[in-house]
Amino acid sequence: MSQTVNTIVIGGGQAGLATGYQLKRLGVDHVILDENEDVGAAWRKRWDSLRLFTPGRYSVLPGMPFQGPPHSLLGKDDIADYLQHYADRFDLPVRTGVKVDQVTADGDRLVVEAGDDRILADNVVVATGAFHNPRVPDFADTLDPSIIQMHSSDYRRPSQIQEGPVLVVGAGQSGAEIALDLIRDHEVWLSGEDRGEQPAGPGPVADRIVEPIMVFAATKVINVANPIGRKVRDHFLYPPRGIPRAGGTRKTILESGIEWVGRTTGTKEGHPELEDGRVLEVDNVIWCTGFVPDYSWIDFPIFDGFGYPIHERGVVASQPGLYFMGLLFQRTLSSALIMGVGKDAAYVAEHIRHRQPARHPSDVVH
Ligand code: FAD
Repeated sequence: MSQTVNTIVIGGGQAGLATGYQLKRLGVDHVILDENEDVGAAWRKRWDSLRLFTPGRYSVLPGMPFQGPPHSLLGKDDIADYLQHYADRFDLPVRTGVKVDQVTADGDRLVVEAGDDRILADNVVVATGAFHNPRVPDFADTLDPSIIQMHSSDYRRPSQIQEGPVLVVGAGQSGAEIALDLIRDHEVWLSGEDRGEQPAGPGPVADRIVEPIMVFAATKVINVANPIGRKVRDHFLYPPRGIPRAGGTRKTILESGIEWVGRTTGTKEGHPELEDGRVLEVDNVIWCTGFVPDYSWIDFPIFDGFGYPIHERGVVASQPGLYFMGLLFQRTLSSALIMGVGKDAAYVAEHIRHRQPARHPSDVVH
């Protein structure tokens, strides 16, 4: 089936919904496509004990404050519920269960293919998240098959693993949280370089004094429009590396009984081997080793050597009508966080409004 719409937003997470909100505000005809069956699914699929590191009052989208206590740290289902409520409240045109397979061009229009559907659009906003394919070292294949191994994106709860010691590889935010989740019932090794932690973990003092300063830095100071912002971006993206942990402090980790060791560099006779030559006899390995971008379904030469789209505040100059939302450092350090997407969405939506063509008025479908 072939249809036409002014703007297609691919992805109905926070970035896609914020874009939808801003497009609706400006009266731009659009549809939001998401492969999941429910809004908020990306959050619901994360591990059960996950609590946001950003307090409730900062975990909001434009137009709708969070209803709970402003200083509370929300669970992953709370934020998923919030997103669902957001889509309902603003009556955003979300079509769930639609996976986009390809984006191409047909003349000066963009073409979005999803199963048997072919939708023509003047604009496409890719809001598919900053975390795509799990990154796992090549030597993962050489682990003994009796060891249960999984990436953090598949981890939900301790009952997924077997009895015995666990090696958590990667000491960033996910690694620290998952190691703390497992230490109650397992001997846990946390492997990896300490990338540092934010100045204060969650708590009343941090929330009142440190958090506002960090939010100011994340939303205003670390902006790619200035040299400091570009330096920070380049440090974390080229090549990609984890940002300092929020919560999961070194002290908490060590006091919990987790054994923090160096990098995991390979395997020996099917068991993980550390950089100091130690071989760990573990029964489980959780890879908290990050993600690689996957835009293989976007058929334009607009990506750099690291697989990131080349853009200016989400606008792809080399492919008119193509936009991105929710990218790491799209504009500021907060661009991939809930608190940052609203402003980026306003910019992208305004850009789209200025491209509104006078042509094809009759073939717009709702
Ligand atoms: P997503 O939430 O990933 O949504 C993208 C959507 O696009 C998904 O619903 C997906 O189904 C859909 N999609 C993808 N490909 C296609 C396709 N081809 N066709 C159709 N649909 C598609 N941020 C904070 O502000 N505070 C926190 O405390 C916080 N904690 C985090 C903890 C973890 C473990 C992680 C991984 C991230 C955390 N973040 C946090 C960062 C960020 O807020 C989340 O990653 C958030 O989910 C990103 O929203 P998004 O809309 O950009 O992408």
